[in-house]
Amino acid sequence: GVSIKDLRKSYGSNEVLKGISLEVKPGEVVCLIGPSGSGKSTLLRCVNLLEQPNQGAIHVGGFEATDPDVDIDKMRRKVGMVFQQFNLFPHLDVLRNCTVAQTKVLKRSQAEADKIAQANLDRVGLGHLAKRFPDQLSGGQQQRVAIARALSMNPELMLFDEPTSALDPETVGDVLAVMRKLAREGMTMLVVTHEMAFAREVADRVVFMDGGVVVEEGVAERVIGAPQQPRTQEFLRRVL
Ligand code: ATP
Ligand code: MG
Repeated sequence: GVSIKDLRKSYGSNEVLKGISLEVKPGEVVCLIGPSGSGKSTLLRCVNLLEQPNQGAIHVGGFEATDPDVDIDKMRRKVGMVFQQFNLFPHLDVLRNCTVAQTKVLKRSQAEADKIAQANLDRVGLGHLAKRFPDQLSGGQQQRVAIARALSMNPELMLFDEPTSALDPETVGDVLAVMRKLAREGMTMLVVTHEMAFAREVADRVVFMDGGVVVEEGVAERVIGAPQQPRTQEFLRRVL
């Protein structure tokens, strides 16, 4: 899981995260919702130190991310990240896309990496496309490869940043189905999404952020179905 305490992040004089505290327990799925610019991506990027927080504590996978002596590479291995843009390697086939980091970073043998990659491609329903190249796949298929690639590193936590926002509508469902399956299998997940139906169905908890603070959080049914805070109500009126 991950435990975030009083996290602050500024870009120059612009304080984007103003003391965020948030926990995702092992096996839990938390969906993070909120308007554009509220700091959702920045929060996710701080969790695997793609951004350096200014203040606060982030415990993840037995590491303290804000400890100046933290081994960033080791810590990042515990955290899988899936972005809006899938960023597959265009010159590598699907299987190789899922093995490069395994062999380079985890020092697994090619044979072992292949086996693990194939198992994770099967898991996302793409085992039969292992020899294809990214440009021979739909956006939704590419995103499922990106998920299989992240899973192949055996992360303790998966971060998703609007994984379906760049997809054609007809492929969104397949990606959400894979995420639903991961959630059922007990994967720990922190998911930024605009898919309110997905959040309501899959999330154990929903966190609504606005202006760099957590405005409201609770079980999905309550936060999305019966929000208490005016800002949450207004946001949901606009997106639902
Ligand atoms: P969206 O829903 O549009 O993805 P978000 O909630 O993910 O929005 P962030 O991308 O975290 O929002 O951005 C929060 C604020 O931080 C914005 O005002 C943005 O302009 C600013 N910001 C983000 N990244 C940087 C950066 N690298 N340098 C300067 N400002 C940044
Ligand atoms: Mg964002």
